[in-house]
Amino acid sequence: MSIAVDDLTRFDEQSAEEVLAWALDTYHPRLAISAAFLVEDMVVIDLAHKIDPGVRVFTLDTGRLPQETYQLIDDVRSKYNIDIEVQFPDASQTQALVRKHGMNLFYKDQALRLLCCQVRKVFPLEKALSGLDAWVTGLRRDQNVTRTNVPKVGVDHAHGDIIKINPIADWSKDRVLAYIKDNKVPYNALYDQGYTSIGCAPCTRPIQPGEEDRAGRWWWEDAATKECGLHHQSPSERFQEELAWLKDETR
Ligand code: SF4
Repeated sequence: MSIAVDDLTRFDEQSAEEVLAWALDTYHPRLAISAAFLVEDMVVIDLAHKIDPGVRVFTLDTGRLPQETYQLIDDVRSKYNIDIEVQFPDASQTQALVRKHGMNLFYKDQALRLLCCQVRKVFPLEKALSGLDAWVTGLRRDQNVTRTNVPKVGVDHAHGDIIKINPIADWSKDRVLAYIKDNKVPYNALYDQGYTSIGCAPCTRPIQPGEEDRAGRWWWEDAATKECGLHHQSPSERFQEELAWLKDETR
């Protein structure tokens, strides 16, 4: 189903429930929530499940997730009675990556960190999205400087021009946490240990007092450039060279 691109801004005036109801009615079952099981993702899952219990949810298992995240995935399966569709990295690409650069290559430089994210997240995401017309995220505008212009509904040019829906783009962190509490939504146990944004175990740490919420993700990098490639791309020449090598190696 197509939608006029110049009509998308109208969704910015709508509530998360209204956006999700429209999206589910329009695109299900060729729509799925992309969940890393952050509190934002949990809000989106809970809201969508109340509208349509058959809503699809997928996640990317990078192979480096904390045990607490795996536990939450199983908790969500039980509470909502939904199958979580899990995408894994390509085994041959992962083997080539660690054979050349080691298990903890992400600490060496940003090009290698992005290469790890490419293999463990970006390629699996492309696979997950290949059968969809629309995907839903828990992105919020005030999470990071890279997200300030996130629309509630947009065309995802990086993924075949499918529709990308960010129903809580205008929510504050306090509103997310209040929703979690008021609706008894399960959440990752690491939040109670000082974590404010949770990804792979070696690339996430609790934040220090005064730091912004995503400061614990890839904390050794510049905030202006630290995205994983799922929602933002800024490939360097070195990254492109390494990616070309990887593709050649695993052809
Ligand atoms: S977050 Fe870290 S471990 Fe996870 S895919 Fe990216 S670089 Fe690799």
